[in-house]
Amino acid sequence: MRIIIFGPPGAGKGTQATLISEKYQIPHLSTGDIFRSAIKNETKLGKEVKSILDSGELVSDRKVVELVEEELQDETYGEGYILDGFPRTVPQAQAFDRLLEENNEDLTAFLQLRVPEEELIDRILNRGEGRSDDTKEGVQKRLSVYKEETEPVVDYYRKKGVAKEVDGTGSIDDIFERINDILAG
Ligand code: ADP
Repeated sequence: MRIIIFGPPGAGKGTQATLISEKYQIPHLSTGDIFRSAIKNETKLGKEVKSILDSGELVSDRKVVELVEEELQDETYGEGYILDGFPRTVPQAQAFDRLLEENNEDLTAFLQLRVPEEELIDRILNRGEGRSDDTKEGVQKRLSVYKEETEPVVDYYRKKGVAKEVDGTGSIDDIFERINDILAG
């Protein structure tokens, strides 16, 4: 099972990805988590991306694609995975497609979490994870980057016929149930 969980900042991608990972026994690969842990551990990568994450801009496609390609070579991903935060631009989606093709693999589902914009801002400002990009300006910047660079990815997967919309409002369990229905169907 190879799944992409997609949505704007604050949509609940990380929360649902964790639940999917547990239930379906597939590893959760979050590019945002990888970057945050690199920053925390002050690695070379962390130093390269810190100011980018703080500004709400995107890390370069080249760097992200290289990172994901390398990570997915690990045998733990052999039976499938759930991607969270990647692909985030159309060039990233194209690069990921090439990777799947090379390995003769395909995507099981592209799950698009939908949440109204006002709710996204409230959720992020109230989640209190202490992320340095979770400020009012940071959120607004990430939302505008999302609309411009990330939202076109939805059309890319719609055209391939694998995109499934998920209502991302309601309780965590409600949303997870909707996802399970889609994955079962
Ligand atoms: P959110 O979706 O809440 O904004 P993420 O944890 O997915 O949070 O991402 C945090 C930040 O990490 C992004 O704002 C961006 O700077 C960087 N990032 C994560 N994934 C990618 C990616 N695929 N391409 C470029 N930048 C990324």
